[in-house]
Amino acid sequence: MELAPSIDEIRYVYELRAEKMNNPAMLSLGSSAIGKNYCETTINVSAEGNVKYCGTFGDNLIIGNVRHKNILDIWEENKEKLVCPKPKGPCAICANSSFCYGCRANAFYFTGDEKNSDPTCWLNPDARLVYEKYLRRP
Ligand code: SF4
Repeated sequence: MELAPSIDEIRYVYELRAEKMNNPAMLSLGSSAIGKNYCETTINVSAEGNVKYCGTFGDNLIIGNVRHKNILDIWEENKEKLVCPKPKGPCAICANSSFCYGCRANAFYFTGDEKNSDPTCWLNPDARLVYEKYLRRP
C-alpha cells in the first residue's frame, strides 16, 4: 500500500496532464480517464469472447461468450447487467455529473460497491476519508 498514490498525488498527475495537453476541461472528469458516455455506450468483449460491462472487473461478472452466443442475444438477455450502474453519493450530484460519474471499478475495488462514488477523485468530498481508510486497512 505504500506505493499507492495519495489523493493529492492523483490530483497533481491529472492537473499536470491537463496542463501538458493544454486542455483544462479534462479536469472535469476528475480522476476518471474517460467520461460516462463511454461507459454507458460500451460493453467489453475479451479476446476469449467473454462479455462484461467493463473490462476492469473480474471474471465473476462475465455475462456470456460471443463464441457460444450471438452478441445481440447476449445484450438483449442481459441489458440490466450490461449497463454501467448509476452512482450514488457525491458522484450522483456532482457539477460534472452530466458527463462524468467516476470510475465504477474504482468504486468497487476501493469500497466493495460499484454504485458508490469514486473514492479516488479529489472533487468527491468523501473521497479522502474512504480512500485513506482503504489504504490503512490491515
Ligand atoms: S466527483 Fe465523481 S462525478 Fe464528480 S468529477 Fe469526480 S468522479 Fe466525476
